[in-house]
Amino acid sequence: MAHSKAQRRGLLIILSSPSGAGKSTLAKRLRAWDNDISFSVSATTRKPRPGEVDGQDYHFVTVESFKQDVANGDMLEHAHVFGNFYGSPKGPVQTAINEGRDVLFDIDWQGAQQITNSDLGKHTLSIFLLPPSITELRRRLESRGQDDAETISRRMQKSWDEISHWGSYDHVLINEDLDETEEALKTIITATRLRRIQQPSLIEHARTLQQEFEDLS
Ligand code: ADP
Repeated sequence: MAHSKAQRRGLLIILSSPSGAGKSTLAKRLRAWDNDISFSVSATTRKPRPGEVDGQDYHFVTVESFKQDVANGDMLEHAHVFGNFYGSPKGPVQTAINEGRDVLFDIDWQGAQQITNSDLGKHTLSIFLLPPSITELRRRLESRGQDDAETISRRMQKSWDEISHWGSYDHVLINEDLDETEEALKTIITATRLRRIQQPSLIEHARTLQQEFEDLS
């Protein structure tokens, strides 16, 4: 039975991997597949870079307001990186999942752990992407053409720190063939949307069935 959007609760879909394994590419494909999947827009205290749009790339906020949000429990997860704060605001996520829409998080293992341990943790689906090999990971970072040699070396050095946490995710995919990984992701999401906890309207449906059953006898 197909459930309408309002009848299911949305998922917090967490996608983690070392840089270059394919997160952004797959996240874009998932959005193209179902535009009810939105990206979580992070809040940050760093200054906008040229071309970055407030509310779209990031929510650019002051240190004071960031700290206040953390103190109020309004951040699902947060981190301090190179002197700046980054975090995922809880409000928009809560609204989306109440309305039956999924939210995708492209975050590292530490953020994933904080979200999984938050009060929305029971609605998370965490997926880790592994590269087929470290050589291929480097090849992808180089072929992406986004980073200089020094940045690529830094990303490669950090990659094991991220990969070593693959064991704490619900699902782990080796992103060898992009199309196959995309299909696997869609299958996982489709199945997880049907978890009992994602379908609060089942209680009402079961009551209706019970009533109908009793009326028959
Ligand atoms: P991340 O967001 O995890 O840093 P990207 O999505 O930017 O990684 O992918 C890094 C590069 O690898 C991109 O150039 C992308 O097109 C390429 N790529 C991603 N997945 C695959 C795959 N399965 N096979 C080959 N190339 C891939």
